[in-house]
Amino acid sequence: MKFRHIFVLGLIAATGIASPDVHGSARKAGVQAPGFYRITVGEVEVTVLSDGTVPLPMDHLLTHTTPALVDQALAASFIKEPYATSVNCFLLNFGTRLVLIDTGAGLTLGPTLNHLMANLRASGYEPDQVDDIFMTHMHIDHEGGLTSNGIRAFPNAILHADDREANYWLNSENEKRASDNAARHPSDQQAKFVENNFVETRKAIQPYIDAAHFKWFHGGEEVLPGLRAISGAGHTPGHTMFALVSDGARILFWGDIVHVAEVQLTTPQTTILFDSDPIQARGERFKMLKEVGSRRDLIAGSHLPFPGVGHIRISQQGFTFLPLHFIGEPSHNK
Ligand SMILES: [Zn+2]
Repeated sequence: MKFRHIFVLGLIAATGIASPDVHGSARKAGVQAPGFYRITVGEVEVTVLSDGTVPLPMDHLLTHTTPALVDQALAASFIKEPYATSVNCFLLNFGTRLVLIDTGAGLTLGPTLNHLMANLRASGYEPDQVDDIFMTHMHIDHEGGLTSNGIRAFPNAILHADDREANYWLNSENEKRASDNAARHPSDQQAKFVENNFVETRKAIQPYIDAAHFKWFHGGEEVLPGLRAISGAGHTPGHTMFALVSDGARILFWGDIVHVAEVQLTTPQTTILFDSDPIQARGERFKMLKEVGSRRDLIAGSHLPFPGVGHIRISQQGFTFLPLHFIGEPSHNK
């Protein structure tokens, strides 16, 4: 009898019938899970760090298309505007060096971004452990996190950037020209973006130059053993991808080759207002999609939906992004 009583009580507790008020009063958490995702590429531990997502009106930002076509493509993928654009950064632990590719937006693009630091710490690292930072390009959503209130956010890191990229964005004559152009065309969104990007680039990079923590590389170079910079100009004059090869495994960090996967994989000719040279950017996108698709390379994208790591499949319908499955034990996916 006693045993039966306990059993019934246990059953009530397990189903929650006995205490609806307790279970029903839990507060909603309201925050997202920590944004980091870890895989192993050969001997290198790769951690994708989310800087957050930023809502962007892609029907107004995408070019060489129409707003109706963009909305149609997004609706076909069950996505509503404004498009929640992921901003992903990548931390590579070589065992001997800790390397960061891009640093997110910092405070330059509103309150939904600037989560890189929190996610870096959540993933088990501190900013002063980062030895090197490599830039895919000098746009605010990739460099804004370099500094905080004018102070280097990664005090021990050497910042590396492609020489063509740095020469373009750090040139005061170019900056003046962009500012004049924006003044002449006050309603031109692109002119305004470029003008602002010159100002923010100077703010982000200058503290590293002043501290002699800035180095150039040239696209094509092996920038660290196993890590090669590959030129992919178009989106910006020195837009760079990075290929990591370790112990026979390979991954390509392709930067901003694709901004809106649901649109630009089905219609790769679609460009974006932020492209410096849209026609060149489009050509590079076609080339890279074909290359990584046919080579079956693992790729990682700055703006592919977080964590943005997977493969590109080529079929008669075009290109498809196939995200890597979640792997509970990263060292098991070597
Ligand atoms: Zn970007």
